[in-house]
Amino acid sequence: MKITFLGTGAGSTVGSRRAKSSIMVSEGEDSIILDMGNGANSNLEDLGFPDINSVFFTHLHIDHINGIFDYLVQRKIRRMNDVKIYSPPGFSNLLNASKDIGNNISAEVYESNLPKAKIGDLEVYSVEACHAIYAVAYVVTNGEKKIVYSGDTSEPCEGIIEESRDADLIIHEATCIEGCEIYGHTPLPKLKEIFNKKRVIITHIPSQIEDKYSNLGDFILAFDGLIWNV
Ligand SMILES: [Zn+2]
Ligand SMILES: [Zn+2]
Repeated sequence: MKITFLGTGAGSTVGSRRAKSSIMVSEGEDSIILDMGNGANSNLEDLGFPDINSVFFTHLHIDHINGIFDYLVQRKIRRMNDVKIYSPPGFSNLLNASKDIGNNISAEVYESNLPKAKIGDLEVYSVEACHAIYAVAYVVTNGEKKIVYSGDTSEPCEGIIEESRDADLIIHEATCIEGCEIYGHTPLPKLKEIFNKKRVIITHIPSQIEDKYSNLGDFILAFDGLIWNV
């Protein structure tokens, strides 16, 4: 599986150095996107607008979904078919509100508390995360390798920890150095404590404090454009 980081900024990130949350997972001919925050859609366009089979949302906070509306416009302009969107309940209300006021956008939306789908050789399923609003984390496997993508969560979060035990790669948020757990996020020291000795790529980073993300050990700090093969 090839993972392309399209957006690695937290909701609080300032400026354009880090777009808001999004990764693309590709296996053979198939590519899916997990979350699509603001600016991630532009980074996808810079890659030549690769065709995407499906988009999965972890939750409906703005920094994880706002890029989708512009993306759907671009698909209409290119006369592409409707993309499938898997989401916790609520996204279709937003999409319909946009359509009702005259935007020509559409998508095949599948809402569920625990979204899952099989896309080519990729199996995608979700577990409940521990965030300020209802949120899930995603597990993506190709039958051989397994990725866990936390979305937004505080830790310890049982379902995520359980799925991470045999994961080949954990892509996990660390939204601060300290103090963000009250907002349902994970401070960097907590992440290091819980996932010590695991292969972890850290994302959802406020760019204005990223120089404080030091002493990472084997952890890797994501950046927009990072490509990682599992
Ligand atoms: Zn977020
Ligand atoms: Zn959030």
